[in-house]
Amino acid sequence: MAPTTFSYDFSNEASGFGKKSSFPSGLFINGQFVDSVDSKTIELINPTTAKSLGHITVASEKDIDLAVEAAQKAFETTWGLHASGQERGKLLIRLAELIEENIEELAALESLDNGKAVAVAQAVDVQGAADVLRYYGGWADKVHGKTIETDDATFAYTRHEPIGVVGQITPWNFPIWMLAWKLGPALATGNAVVFKPSEWTPLTALRVASLIKEAGFPPGVVNIVPGIGNIAGAAISNHSGIGKVAFTGSTAVGRAIMKAAASSNLKRVTLELGGKSPTLVLDDCNLENAARWAAYGILANHGQVCCAGTRIYVQDNIYDKFLEKFLAVVKSVKLGDPFHPETFQGPQVSKTQFDRILNYIEHGKKEGATCLLGGQQHGTEGYFIQPTIFTDIKPEMRIVKEEIFGPVGVVAKFSNDEELIKLANDTVYGLAAAVFSENLSRAVKLANALKAGTVWVNTYNTIRTNVPFGGYKQSGQGRELGEYALDNYTQVKAVHINLSGPPPI
Ligand code: NAD
Repeated sequence: MAPTTFSYDFSNEASGFGKKSSFPSGLFINGQFVDSVDSKTIELINPTTAKSLGHITVASEKDIDLAVEAAQKAFETTWGLHASGQERGKLLIRLAELIEENIEELAALESLDNGKAVAVAQAVDVQGAADVLRYYGGWADKVHGKTIETDDATFAYTRHEPIGVVGQITPWNFPIWMLAWKLGPALATGNAVVFKPSEWTPLTALRVASLIKEAGFPPGVVNIVPGIGNIAGAAISNHSGIGKVAFTGSTAVGRAIMKAAASSNLKRVTLELGGKSPTLVLDDCNLENAARWAAYGILANHGQVCCAGTRIYVQDNIYDKFLEKFLAVVKSVKLGDPFHPETFQGPQVSKTQFDRILNYIEHGKKEGATCLLGGQQHGTEGYFIQPTIFTDIKPEMRIVKEEIFGPVGVVAKFSNDEELIKLANDTVYGLAAAVFSENLSRAVKLANALKAGTVWVNTYNTIRTNVPFGGYKQSGQGRELGEYALDNYTQVKAVHINLSGPPPI
């Protein structure tokens, strides 16, 4: 069978691309779009309407074998140590340009597939992806080892060499942005890639596959294989031809990937996992700004953000004033059609997530928390959920401990900084945290005491391409973005040169 094609006419949407988009949606292996060996497809559902968007091809275990084979061949012949840093950099920068040339189409596809507001998809996700690829394009010819002085008779130097074939598995919340976070450092350092996007949101990765071809990457350097997690994802993490797997997703799947890596070929693993991040609102903060950033911390991307600030701790003497301002901001959020230019919050990504979030909300109510705002489906069509805020919480409640991944937050009081540090760190996660205070020395003291990979002071969700991102504790291992991410994709070779020393025997 011929590989599938995805088509959608955006001309009836309220804003955005406004034209038909049509592109191959088969598996992208060895520079070609191909059918899967068993011709299996899955149906994509539009989260705004709950209606079908058509079918795309998904990879079986055998297809992953073919993708790894193509990547190995590319690594050994045209990529890896065979393409200079300058050549790799040029290709990454060309891909960034092509993404920018097609920014409206890519944003519309992201919005259609994931439900995020099209303006946000364009400004954050798609532009962010181009920025990340360009940034790592710049790094490609600047990765190098060191010369190390030993003694008069010898010297040593190190080389930072690519690992070989790397497997990359991403979630559905920032599909194209996560793709760039993964491809950028892997390709800059000379690895060949087998990339699996989430089966719920594969459209932008497939459209980018065509752009990868157009940019001129040699066949097999990047293979894009949509597929089901426990089939294609598991095949990647178990494959002994893959030297490293990079994963972003849930902590449960991260654990399964580590096990698979350990019991196959001990491949390297980096993980970006879940979170339950605290927002600390101190009595010396700018109340207006703190209320707005705290609301943004929960509601950005409909709460489907791994670093969402879902636990808000407010100093008791400003609690009532803060809550009033905070609720006013949350209430002002525009929910609805992601293609409407004023929309901030669209639908949750899928029926599964929609049900899961409503289930958490019911738990919160049953466990005795007060649901101050929201708590229901919004409208009757699609997967929309009202922004939901709980108070009167206890640390052992599920809505306080577990990642909900929806527009749901809890607010509680604290009285002093010592108590605050305990409350904030009382979680198995450690992805992010935020402190709101106009007293810089107090804020920095708290930032140092927080067990989190990112701490924001007087801001939230501020991600920068050149600043590392990743988790403490069960939020992950390794760092993405910035110079730090390059280390995930290189291995160090030490070369010793003997200048004059005689053999010991
Ligand atoms: P998920 O873990 O269910 O799926 C993520 C990816 O893993 C998907 O591509 C899926 O197909 C694949 N997968 C599923 N089962 C697999 C298996 N057994 N073996 C290999 N791969 C498998 O997560 P999700 O629901 O798509 O995403 C939401 C989660 O991701 C949240 O917990 C969120 O916190 C986390 N996340 C973390 C970050 C971060 O940077 N730390 C960023 C985004 C999302």
